[in-house]
Amino acid sequence: MTRPPGPPTALWRPYTQMKLAAPPPKVQATEGVRLILDDGTSLVDGISSWWTACHGYNHPHIRAAVADQLARMPHVMFGGLTHEPAERLARRLATLLPGDLDHVFFTDSGSVAVEVAMKMAVQYWLNRGVKGRHKFVSFRDGYHGDTLGAMSVTDPDGGMHRHFAGYLPRQFVAELPTDLDRIAGLESLLARHRDEIAGVIVEPLVQGAGGMRFHDGDTLRRIANAAARHGHLLIADEIMTGFGRTGRMFASEEADIVPDIMCLSKALTGGTIALAATVARAHVFDAFWSDEPSAALMHGPTFMANPLACAAANASLDLFEREPWLSQVQAIAAALRRGLEPARDLPGVVDVRVQGAIGVVQLTALKDAGWLRRRFIELGVWARPFGDILYVAPPFVIEPRDLDLLVRAMVTVARDWSERFGVT
Ligand SMILES: *Cc1c(COP(=O)(O)O)cnc(C)c1O
Repeated sequence: MTRPPGPPTALWRPYTQMKLAAPPPKVQATEGVRLILDDGTSLVDGISSWWTACHGYNHPHIRAAVADQLARMPHVMFGGLTHEPAERLARRLATLLPGDLDHVFFTDSGSVAVEVAMKMAVQYWLNRGVKGRHKFVSFRDGYHGDTLGAMSVTDPDGGMHRHFAGYLPRQFVAELPTDLDRIAGLESLLARHRDEIAGVIVEPLVQGAGGMRFHDGDTLRRIANAAARHGHLLIADEIMTGFGRTGRMFASEEADIVPDIMCLSKALTGGTIALAATVARAHVFDAFWSDEPSAALMHGPTFMANPLACAAANASLDLFEREPWLSQVQAIAAALRRGLEPARDLPGVVDVRVQGAIGVVQLTALKDAGWLRRRFIELGVWARPFGDILYVAPPFVIEPRDLDLLVRAMVTVARDWSERFGVT
């Protein structure tokens, strides 16, 4: 297994078999909805840099806010200190979020926001004098991040568990309660293990990295009701769905539920600087409110509530207030529904689906993701097919012409793929 002299490998890339992967395109600039490569190629970004850049890249309002903050104070520790950008952002999130989701704990990545939510749930029970409740219920095809706790509640057949089975805490995996059997299954799991379970974690409406699978508001409401009935905390992982992507500001609103804890990241940042938040309802926060110092939430990342990141997020919220994001998302949804329909009848395609500004073409299998990516690039599009799906989740500000290019590229790539691999 010695490595022959070859391409430089100083940089170790994510989810990448370094031996087999072609060198990735090198991006030298971003602009609006476009990535500009070092050879001058301009690509329409179909996935908004992992769903973060909802307002497009280099938005002048976000840039100005970050530049202003950079001149004042790029960073200061958050242990024992506070600052206006974080105070303001927390107040605004509390106002924007449903119900009494009013207590905001900042971190620097989605995975860590999930870790904090899980620790919050575990410590919630301890602080209330209840011992033994430290397991979680999560759902098949779910994805919650790459750190230990987050991996343990990610779908066990999704790859990570295979490698790390002996390392991960064991949790309970349930099917989404989409039919009577599954509803009964979830109910009985929640009842049987009541005294071990700290919380139930779900991605509302859209299971993202687990395959862009959608469920409806009724299914989500059933989960929330079941969790409440059995006395479990509900954690909504809205890291991907939050901030308009599904056609609601938060996907939880579709079912009119207020989860006990919500995780946010990705579009929270406006696609600019890493930031995440774990937000708790009043009764969760109250379980930590005590004369006992050790009842405090035991977490605190070095770069927690970084002022630049908070300034970017505040500017992103300004844009949500002043831009017509809802009609933009609805227009994208309509264009995706219309434009992706021709892919449905292709022999290699098993499903076409749209939820808000997310469009998916599911193939019979994913063969040759590298070929798919190259084909998209030839068509002027950046997309990153994974699992068995092609998908797009463009910036909300995408113009009709660019959207049309994306949609056509999806259908063309699906057709080419069908001709190449799909006919059995
Ligand atoms: C991306 C994502 C995460 C992990 O966020 P990172 O910032 O990559 O750590 C967790 N949950 C969901 C639903 C996500 O989409």
